[in-house]
Order: sequence, then C-alpha cells, then structure tokens
Amino acid sequence: MTSSLNEWRAHARTARETDRQVRRLYHLAHRIAPIGRILTNPNATADDIAYATARIPRALAAASRLLTRPGVADHLEAPYALSFLTTAERALTAPSTQLLKTANTARAAAAAASANSGWTRHEHVASEAVLGLAARWGLSPAAHIPHPTADDQPPVPAYIAHEVARRTEIRARCTAGIRCTRTTCLAYGAVWTHNGTGQGPFLCPGCIPAANADRVARRFAPTLQTVPGGVPAGARYSVTLYNGSGPGRRTVTCETPQEAQFTAETVRPFNNTGYTIQITPAQ
Ligand SMILES: [Zn+2]
Repeated sequence: MTSSLNEWRAHARTARETDRQVRRLYHLAHRIAPIGRILTNPNATADDIAYATARIPRALAAASRLLTRPGVADHLEAPYALSFLTTAERALTAPSTQLLKTANTARAAAAAASANSGWTRHEHVASEAVLGLAARWGLSPAAHIPHPTADDQPPVPAYIAHEVARRTEIRARCTAGIRCTRTTCLAYGAVWTHNGTGQGPFLCPGCIPAANADRVARRFAPTLQTVPGGVPAGARYSVTLYNGSGPGRRTVTCETPQEAQFTAETVRPFNNTGYTIQITPAQ
C-alpha cells in the first residue's frame, strides 16, 4: 500500500515536472514568435535582421534541449508550442529574408558610396538595380523596429494560456471518440455506420433508429446500421474540412478517432469551417 502510494507520488512529481518543462517551451515559443515576425517586416534594418538571425537559432537549440527532458516530446501540447518556433525557423531561411539582407547591404553600400566617390559606374548601376528590386518587393528604406524585451521568463500571455486551456478541454472531451452527426444529439463516442450501399455517418447506436426514421421521411430505405466489427484495425480517419460559405476544402488523415475529432474541432482553415469524417481502409 505504502509502496503504491509512493509510486503514485513519484508519478505525480514527474507529471508536474513535465508540465513545467512544457510551460517553458511555451515561454520560449512566445518570446521567439515576434522575433520571427521581424524578418517578415519590410522595414527591418540590418541590425534587426542580425538580432533575429542570432536569437532564433539559440531559441531552437534551447527548445531541442527541452524536448530531451522526460515526457516533453510526447506531451500533447508540445506540437502546438513547437509550431510557433517552426514559423520563426521558416522566416529565417525565407527568400524575403535574403532579399531584406541584400537590400540593406545595397543601401549601406549606396550610403558609403555617396560619402566617398570611390565607386565605379558599374557598382552604382548594380546597387541601383538591387534597390529597385527591393522597392518592387515593397521593401522601403529603414524605419526602426523596437526589439521585443528579452526578459528571461515573461508570463505566458493570456491569449496563449486561454488557447492552451481551450485545446486541453477539447482534447478531454474527444477522448470518448467521434461525435455523433445527429444535430439534436452531438454526443461523443459515435459508431461507424453503413447505409447498405456505402459509408454512413458516425452515429451513437441509440441515434440509428431516429436517423432511419429521417431516411424514411425523405423516401430512402431505413438501411443505416452499425458496421459489423466496427472500424477495422489499421484503417485511417480522413477529416475533410470544408468552407461552409465558399469554395475550398482540405483533408487531414488521422490514426485514431480521438485525433480525428480533435482535428475536426481545432483546425479551422476557413471562417466558416465544417467537417466530415470518413474511414479510409488500411492499405
Ligand atoms: Zn447520437
């Protein structure tokens, strides 16, 4: 008894420590997101760029160290925190960042050339060509961009804390599985159905008779039934996210019903996103 209580305490300590490390990952991600945005600002100066290009790799290195701590890489919130860091990393190597650097070099060279007339005509032409290209890309001359504060542990801002809480809540209710598609029900833990000729909607067993009654009312045969044996092992869940008020759709493939339902409720590529979940048999 004492030993299992001690084990329980040890588990609780480990879980608290993992949560603490994941919060550090969020702090890091939050600190680096605005620094990544410096690189997408056409008014970034050479100093701004140097600052961002030094800070981002350091943050990425710190994040990889955090990911080696027990349980952090497998934590359900780790991918969301990492998505902010990935965006900053992409900004680091984006062509627009290279062009910002080139434009700033050209500007500095042009300024130096006007101060001393040691430039050849060829150098002037090359410099003007780069400046012209920069102007076409909307990269106007320097305006100072304030650096984000480099405090070590700023509090996680309310909107991120709120978003994390919202996602945790959705994840908790998705543990029961896929949501019943009957709008008067919407309970979690629905089963896969078949309509006699193809895939039917996900419904709770208790909703199938009512769904069949609806079919009769619409002059269809009441053929909906649960698929014997349920979803086969190795099958995938295809979540189609569609635009409810215009063209556009996107499909995400998931391995578990929990992940599929979570994706359906959290990935919103359109203002008015709707979703359907279908089964793709194992290949
Ligand atoms: Zn139902």
